[in-house]
Amino acid sequence: MAAGLRFQVVNEAFKRGPVFVDMPKERPSEYFAKYVFDRQKMYRYLSPTVYEQMCDVIDNGAPFDRSIADAVASGIKKWAIENGVTHYTHWFQPLTEGTAQKHDGFVEHDGKGGMVEEFEGKLLVQQEPDASSFPSGGIRSTFEARGYSAWDPTSPVFIIGDTLLIPTIFISYTGEALDYKVPLKRSLHALDKAATAVARLFYPDVRRVVTNLGWEQEYFLVDEALYAARPDLVMTGRTLMGHDSAKNQQMDDHYFGSIPARVEEFMKDIEIHALELGIPCKTRHNEVAPNQFELAPIYEEANLAVDHNMLMMSIMKRVARKHGFRCLLHEKPFKGVNGSGKHENWSLATDTGILLHAPGKTPMDNLRFTTFIVETLKAVYDHNGLIKASIMSATNAHRLGANEAPPAIISSFLGKTLSDLLLHVEKADDDALSMEGKKAFKLDLPSLPELLIDNTDRNRTSPFAFTGNRFEFRAVGSEANCASAMLTLNAAVAEALLDFRERVDRLMGEGESKDAAIMRVVREDIKYIKPIIFNGNGYSDEWKEEAARRGLDCEVSAPLVFDNYLKEETVRMFARTNVMTRLELEARNEIKWETYTKKIQIESRIFGDLCLNHIIPVVTKYQSTLIDNVHKVQGIFEGEKARKIARENLIIIEKMADHESFIIENVDKMVEARKVANRIESEREKAIAYHDTVAPLMEAIRYHVDKLETIVDDELWPLPKYRELLFIR
Ligand code: ADP
Ligand code: MG
Repeated sequence: MAAGLRFQVVNEAFKRGPVFVDMPKERPSEYFAKYVFDRQKMYRYLSPTVYEQMCDVIDNGAPFDRSIADAVASGIKKWAIENGVTHYTHWFQPLTEGTAQKHDGFVEHDGKGGMVEEFEGKLLVQQEPDASSFPSGGIRSTFEARGYSAWDPTSPVFIIGDTLLIPTIFISYTGEALDYKVPLKRSLHALDKAATAVARLFYPDVRRVVTNLGWEQEYFLVDEALYAARPDLVMTGRTLMGHDSAKNQQMDDHYFGSIPARVEEFMKDIEIHALELGIPCKTRHNEVAPNQFELAPIYEEANLAVDHNMLMMSIMKRVARKHGFRCLLHEKPFKGVNGSGKHENWSLATDTGILLHAPGKTPMDNLRFTTFIVETLKAVYDHNGLIKASIMSATNAHRLGANEAPPAIISSFLGKTLSDLLLHVEKADDDALSMEGKKAFKLDLPSLPELLIDNTDRNRTSPFAFTGNRFEFRAVGSEANCASAMLTLNAAVAEALLDFRERVDRLMGEGESKDAAIMRVVREDIKYIKPIIFNGNGYSDEWKEEAARRGLDCEVSAPLVFDNYLKEETVRMFARTNVMTRLELEARNEIKWETYTKKIQIESRIFGDLCLNHIIPVVTKYQSTLIDNVHKVQGIFEGEKARKIARENLIIIEKMADHESFIIENVDKMVEARKVANRIESEREKAIAYHDTVAPLMEAIRYHVDKLETIVDDELWPLPKYRELLFIR
């Protein structure tokens, strides 16, 4: 950017005011799900028998009978056309970021030279998008198979603008998952089966167990004029250079502060869109960093919640532009201030109640509660490295392991009440356990205070905290598809519960009473899971040492963290729960490594350009000005005075020259490092090379660029600075 242009851009950003939103006349409860083909619409647009069949599909997982597909499609078409829809698309979640769609018109030849609106069941049920441009990790080339997308009727179709969107799964012809939804659904099924079997030990009437997910989405807003002036933000979603602002978050004045007017209008706008699409938005507030915010809906069944999060992220990006903003979902757009995460609040519920809820009514309730807590923790402990892998990415790596977000070690915070309870169960009287036969088994669990539900002594540093009636997984990246973490956690918990039931059955087979058998297994596991429980400060160095001693996975290099997906215990766990095959896991890891490499490669390229074409030229220019000054000074002053001024200028000139030569030399090295890495065949080794050789050079060079920012004449500096990016509304 030419000198002076930065100020124009900053001015433009400063002057931009709020874009006021026309609030709907109706109340939110009236326009909620207006653009969703939900039950109300099904009731209105489908015949009573078809409606019943669809309810059976959605509620009880009955197969979606192709014979009703035409009737359903025709009802949907009628509703869509009434809402001005002209196009439809299958909407799916390939293994890239975001979602994919390809729009087709409803129109078909009518055979008489004209056109009619057509939408048959087969178009609703299944399509074959040209899958070759989506990552498959080699599955498709290996099997020469095409991919197809198929409607997932548990996620209703919806309308955006003139288009009907049909949420689909995406699968290869040989049945391998090419998306996030297929393994997610398999994991929900596995967890349902395993958890139901365990829940029945306590409540024989339980029919099924549902997984709930309540996500909280953090994000940054940046004025679009400033965004456009930062090629690094445009290309990579984060700033690759920029010196700390004098003020950032140290005053703690942003969190829960009043929401700026421009932002508030944006929030209202996205909430209206979200509610119309059936996303139950509830909470909005400022986050810790300047210009950082959060949005959270009420929790929903996990499959739907995942779709809603994907949808929400695209709404946020789209609507931000109307308000002169860009919405940054990157986990770490700015160095030195907090990054963005996505908390995933995870819980299990039966058709009769919440399983992680501590009602404290009967000893049986409490034992059920203890069982599900302990088995969840066992899953997290057994697969802590894998669970970290499920949230690891090139972008989230900036949070994990940095001293602000949950550390790159998975552990769980339970709080005092729950820790005390587990201790109590562990130490329960052994005599009580040995009581044989059908005699009433005295459980002697303390009644759990309702207070547990509002347990407020939360530990912000814990990646996996128990918060009353759910676990809150806090290490997930803001940009991530929720499904990646969910399907891993679900499968791992399913495995733990399968084991649990088997062990209890075995003991009962040996003549132990049910209560005693459960108690024995729970107590065994309470002892076993101790290493995963950590109630202290997760950011401290002592914890890193302690965690290593406990044998928890402490790896921070993303490409190596991905190895967890191919460990034998992982492959076995995913196979046993039917969530993913070895082939699928191998394919996915290829994609993970490849994506990692590409991200760092793009960053490194744009970073090199910025250094050589934006920064070095202005540094040289400023140097010339100073050198010029040295010469001119000689003509005006004489002797010591002239020498003093010259010396001072020369010190600055030399400092700049040092930074400059470091930058030039190391940009060269970085380009060389890329070339070497690019020649590596194996995706894994290539990603490791990018991590070990390219990324550190970027960090090292950045230090010098940021130093130059504090030296070079502000008027010449070409890129909007942190104080401008972060504090303008
Ligand atoms: P925080 O204090 O962490 O911001 P909130 O009370 O605002 O937490 O809730 C955060 C999210 O947790 C919301 O999406 C909320 O609906 C969800 N949530 C609450 N209870 C449950 C539950 N039992 N299972 C899953 N999610 C839940
Ligand atoms: Mg939270």
